[in-house]
Amino acid sequence: MAVPQNKISKSRRNNRRAHDALVAGNPNECTNCGELKRPHHVCASCGHYDDKEVVALVEEIELDDEDAA
Ligand SMILES: [Zn+2]
Repeated sequence: MAVPQNKISKSRRNNRRAHDALVAGNPNECTNCGELKRPHHVCASCGHYDDKEVVALVEEIELDDEDAA
């Protein structure tokens, strides 16, 4: 098993972790509905991409007990 040759001090460990923070995303406004969406991704709220509807969204999905078997 690999064993560290030297102890990493709290200072050095924390200095390394100083660059580990997550950065927020950079959302765009959907050109169709104005909702914020990820760039280069289909809008999750209206299913449009590049002003065209590419994903049809359903209001509600009914699940019958018979289909589950
Ligand atoms: Zn949209």
